[in-house]
Amino acid sequence: MAEDISPLIRKLSESHSLSIEEYERLIAGRNEESARLLRDLAVKERRRIYGNHVYVRGLIEVSNICRNDCLYCGIRRSNPHCERYRLNPDEITACADEGYSLGFRTFVLQGGEDSYFTDEVLGGIVRSIKASHPDCAVTLSMGERSRSSYEHLRACGADRYLLRHETADPEHYARLHPPAMSWDNRMNCLRELRELGYQVGCGFMVGSPYQTTRILAEDLKFIETFRPEMCGIGPFIPHKDTPFRDEPAGTLELTCYLLSVIRLVHPPVLLPATTALGTIDPLGREKGIMSGANVVMPNLSPVNVRRKYELYDNKICTGEESAQCRECLSNRMRSIGYEVVVDRGDFKRAL
Ligand code: SAH
Repeated sequence: MAEDISPLIRKLSESHSLSIEEYERLIAGRNEESARLLRDLAVKERRRIYGNHVYVRGLIEVSNICRNDCLYCGIRRSNPHCERYRLNPDEITACADEGYSLGFRTFVLQGGEDSYFTDEVLGGIVRSIKASHPDCAVTLSMGERSRSSYEHLRACGADRYLLRHETADPEHYARLHPPAMSWDNRMNCLRELRELGYQVGCGFMVGSPYQTTRILAEDLKFIETFRPEMCGIGPFIPHKDTPFRDEPAGTLELTCYLLSVIRLVHPPVLLPATTALGTIDPLGREKGIMSGANVVMPNLSPVNVRRKYELYDNKICTGEESAQCRECLSNRMRSIGYEVVVDRGDFKRAL
């Protein structure tokens, strides 16, 4: 007979900590009933800290030019079919201005590792967004850079940095990335970002090739010990022009289950219901929020480039104007009893 994991769920909800072996059992032994218990506890915890508020982050996809060659990613360097683009500083600040007027108070600049974005160029963009909108948070998601670069960008006003750790297992990391990239360096970047005073986001894909329950348990232990301010998880979705084109996508069920687990591991974490989740299921983002997530990230990129920032196949929200994306998500959240708020949506450290 399968193990009854409800005692483990209660233990997690009370102590916010399990051993790696216990996390493994929590994942392997799940069923519909235990998932419901876990979700109810996660939603209660999120409600206690953040009420029914959902924070929005305006995502600006600044470039799909990338020197890296991550095996899962559609904008990897060796994809010859990817039509490359880059926004210039004026275009990026114009997206932020438009976002501001739509009620966004956090902008996320995300892109490939494009050498055009030197410290000087990227720092200048951060400075100009912060000068026009001092009440806003600027989040960067521009990959691995040197400590001095992170330091410079922080001095220019960047508040937060998203750098998914991708996997807590170094061998698994090596199967998802080319030899030139290293797990040690990625983890070191996360530590440096923290030391420099950024609010830091880590995260991983659910169902990435070669991922095991054990590895997911290690990811959860990493989140428990690192205690990131933010954590981005979404299903892996294959991209047709990558070596992983024939691999199966991660599931809605497991992603939502892990969102609930992460909420209980680290209750105040800012946890997005990602675009990837909305891509594998038409109501994926709603289901993510109802599992314990509390952030959504509508797209603010100019419509003419959106289709080109294709990390995986069939990405949603590539046709609408920014205002429509914002409206659509507000309506979706309202339909499940949540309210999108105009707020920087900072991490609630006290809890
Ligand atoms: N260059 C930046 C931004 C990467 S894109 C960086 O290195 O951090 C943001 C995230 O998209 C990645 O961290 C990865 O976890 C996710 N991603 C990439 N390809 C994906 C795919 N095929 N399916 C789902 N998520 C993917």
